[in-house]
Amino acid sequence: MRIQSATLGYPRIGKNREVKKALEAFWSGNCESEALLQIVRETEESNWKTQLEAGIERIGVGDTTLYDHVLDWSFRLGLIPKRFQQYNGLERYFAMARGKEGVPALEITKWFDTNYHYLVPEIASEILPADFSDFLERISRAQTILGKRVTPILLGACTLLRLSKVELNIEQVISQLIPLYINLLTKLKNLGVEEVQIHEPALVLGDAHSWKEHFQTLYSSLSSVGIPLHLVTYFDDLGETYPWVMELPVTAISLDFTRGRNLELLKAYGFPENKRLGVGIVDARNIWQIRPEKVIPILSEIGNFNITSLDIQPSASLQFVPYDSAREKHLPEQLRNVLSFAEQKLKEVVFLAQTVKGENTEIEQKSLSSNWNKFEQFSPANQSVQERLKSLKSGDFQRSLSYGLRLDSQITLPLFPTTTIGSFPQTPEVRQLRVRYKRGELSQEEYQAAIDVQIAESIKLQEELELDVLVHGEFERTDMVEFFGQQLSGFAFTENGWVQSYGSRYVRPPIIYGDVIRTLPMTVREFKVAQSLTEKPVKGMLTAPVTILNWSYPRTDIARSEQAFQIALALRDEVADLEAAGAKVIQVDEPALREGLPLKPQRWSEYLSWATDAFRLATAVAQPQTQIHTHMCYCEFGDIIKDIERLDADVISIENSRSSNQTLREITEGGYSHQVGNGVYDIHSPVVPTTEQILQQLQTGIANLPLKQIWVNPDCGLKTRRWAEVVPALKNMVEATKILRSKVNVTEK
Ligand code: GLN
Ligand code: ZN
Repeated sequence: MRIQSATLGYPRIGKNREVKKALEAFWSGNCESEALLQIVRETEESNWKTQLEAGIERIGVGDTTLYDHVLDWSFRLGLIPKRFQQYNGLERYFAMARGKEGVPALEITKWFDTNYHYLVPEIASEILPADFSDFLERISRAQTILGKRVTPILLGACTLLRLSKVELNIEQVISQLIPLYINLLTKLKNLGVEEVQIHEPALVLGDAHSWKEHFQTLYSSLSSVGIPLHLVTYFDDLGETYPWVMELPVTAISLDFTRGRNLELLKAYGFPENKRLGVGIVDARNIWQIRPEKVIPILSEIGNFNITSLDIQPSASLQFVPYDSAREKHLPEQLRNVLSFAEQKLKEVVFLAQTVKGENTEIEQKSLSSNWNKFEQFSPANQSVQERLKSLKSGDFQRSLSYGLRLDSQITLPLFPTTTIGSFPQTPEVRQLRVRYKRGELSQEEYQAAIDVQIAESIKLQEELELDVLVHGEFERTDMVEFFGQQLSGFAFTENGWVQSYGSRYVRPPIIYGDVIRTLPMTVREFKVAQSLTEKPVKGMLTAPVTILNWSYPRTDIARSEQAFQIALALRDEVADLEAAGAKVIQVDEPALREGLPLKPQRWSEYLSWATDAFRLATAVAQPQTQIHTHMCYCEFGDIIKDIERLDADVISIENSRSSNQTLREITEGGYSHQVGNGVYDIHSPVVPTTEQILQQLQTGIANLPLKQIWVNPDCGLKTRRWAEVVPALKNMVEATKILRSKVNVTEK
């Protein structure tokens, strides 16, 4: 048996977030395009060298990006919607990513069940000439450093199409794309590339079976080029597609053995003798070190099949984990020693490959096991949380009055109440405050006083703008999940653990490592400060359990549902405290509910049941007169509308503007009976919407809903925007609402 180590992609943001910094400088006109591209080249070269030095034998290359790798492939393949064709080069690329005055960006949505977002390709009849020069240049450059180890990473045409908005029929587009892929593969072959990875994660989706013929057509055409193809899948098992995927004319197939039932499928159907198997065994989506006693038996089982050649590799691209856990010096040693980021995962891959080859790795195995033993002693279970969970009753998940009965006791507001989603701009000044506080240059009192100045200014502004329900602005929060995790025990935080969320936006997901406990109120102080400054209602602002869970790295020793309930109990106490402090409206953001859905629909109901229960556990403690809001973004609601209703929030505000009211349509057509905040403009774009645009969005939006059910708000929090964008946008939003109110009043008279 031939064993090699391999990778399927690497973090691409730079160890010190160099790419983000360069991008932002470029966008604000402080950096030339050449300097930006140079930073990207340096970042990828450093990535390649790290993988080379770790001893990886087949290194995935070409996944580095200026914004998003899916956008890169749309761009290279000439899938350029008409509205962007007026621009060229980088201007076109960033117009597609971020929009321009009057030219909306491509839609952004979650990449499978991860917290990464990609730009949704739009495919119309006209395809512009393809241009692979940037990709080919990158591959040649990689060859000078990595030689034969270079394995170019291509996004497969079926996955690209499956994720696109396509106006034509799929067969037609595939036949247009095939010659482009053939052309690229031929060029790669001429460069002397030995094998190409084609990533087709769409093969694990619930509907993949219905794509069988498309896959067969595509791969039989591509195999004619004569360059070995490595079909890569991840994030779940192949399900019913397994038998025919094995027959596709490719040299190697990669499967994810960290999620789903691929091992069972392998046992049931075997593996073709003439192909190589890529064994995705090091979890690319979580940061825990492997446990040899769990992983090695799986590898031995796989080894029992008569497979001639194996690659040992991470389960997917390592873009979902940070660079290097060794840099997290402030974490307790017992915890740090069981963490594994990208660099550590490379070592694990090499170590496992050696183990499978039969080399003696006993010393490494013992040291891994001993790390885990020490960690377990360091972080034992918490008795009080365990008992509270055990004694939960169905009444704890149920508000005391149903929606229809509690509605009249809640605050009275004008028709089409206006509000925002929570955060206001995190200006350099605000970020600076936090940095100085962390460094000890500001005392807690000084820091809080400075935050309070921001709160006061934002309340004054919101009153001037005549918004109806105000927010404090979230100036004290770096991030909606990190902020809560930092105050709960059981969470750990990294200093350098950044991963890309989209474009230049990176997050540092917290690590859940132990039982979750709230020791003190988390948001009550800032709420009180804000509410004391205005007669208008200020929203209490919390992040809901499933979002905290989904945007953190979870534990792997207990179920996700149990972790969600632990977080819910902590939030439940916070809801009660906010209410006691006078909050009439409490928003509990659950933007990640949809993205946590398992990729295969058979597993949805189990997930949705505990996920909605967790939200209810956190909020059902509220009195009938307290209005509970939730907020969700970037999601297709169509298929989970009943579950959203089951959350039993009084108001939900949604992202709606990038998908031209589709979300609202789904909600209304699904018969949603509670109130809905219509996300009337896209906060991800720096363009300020005009009153007319918002009015139009509102007017088409209200068509199907009882007017009393509609709220008006931006489609997400405003923390990434500048005040100069926020103020005129909100002014226009309130103005449009007033016009609409007067129109409705006229028709009613
Ligand atoms: N309240 C949060 C904010 O305004 C919600 C953010 C989100 O949905 N991603 O920032
Ligand atoms: Zn949002």
